[in-house]
Amino acid sequence: MRVRSASAPPPGRTVNEDLVFRAGPLVGVLDGATVPDGFDIGCVHGPQWYVRHLAARLGLAEAARPAATLVSNLAAAILAVRADHGGQCDLDHPGTPSSTVCLLRDGGDQVDYLVLCDSPLVLETGDRVDVVSDDRLAVSTASLRATAAELPESTDPETRFRYAVTVQRQWMNRTHGYWVAAADPDAAYHAVVGTVPLRGPDALRRAVLLTDGASAAVEEFGLFDWVGLLDLVTAEGPGALIDRVRAAERDHPDRRRRHKPADDASAVYCEFTRLDDNGA
Ligand SMILES: [Zn+2]
Repeated sequence: MRVRSASAPPPGRTVNEDLVFRAGPLVGVLDGATVPDGFDIGCVHGPQWYVRHLAARLGLAEAARPAATLVSNLAAAILAVRADHGGQCDLDHPGTPSSTVCLLRDGGDQVDYLVLCDSPLVLETGDRVDVVSDDRLAVSTASLRATAAELPESTDPETRFRYAVTVQRQWMNRTHGYWVAAADPDAAYHAVVGTVPLRGPDALRRAVLLTDGASAAVEEFGLFDWVGLLDLVTAEGPGALIDRVRAAERDHPDRRRRHKPADDASAVYCEFTRLDDNGA
């Protein structure tokens, strides 16, 4: 597996709450949830600390238990990060630090993947290109918009925003809500997972792990389709994809679904050598 990656905050910002990592056969992208101004999180550490610790714990879990499922290792990593908080944080706080998770593990003759929350994975197997995504946050956000629409018309934007954040927090890691890596290891068991072969006609050829800041190239700005994204990243590298998103953000500041005009963006490109059936 050959891997290339890029990750960057928007121009003018120095803090990147995305993280890309590689630990042996495991590659991943994490997107830490930004804390809106004025909201408490019950934790002295914050989102950047959270994604760094989760990545480190995922790497350790993989090293300690390479035969375990990605779900099991993610649950172990979430549990270990609970301990990393050191007892000084309220881990039951609804604003506790959280992160999306997108993982891919090269098992030699097959590849395992895991997607939790809105960091999608593009897979090219044989002649097909598929996207593995977890749309529960998007579904929750859509019903949140419907609920917010019922607030009195005179409600000011700040009150609407505070209401939306408060309701969304109540849906985190709840049945009928959405699931994300935070303080509850059970979230791992709600991830979208699968395995694809590295041999035969449906063998995996290329994969791209994305945070939503990078998948916005397709999903928000419509710059190209998923095949186009794969081809761009193959030809010009993951950094070129982020450059395209930055240009689109400059040209269309109104096109973002969220209130922020630009987002941290990350992409990890994995390319696989075709194995024949003799294993050569
Ligand atoms: Zn903490």
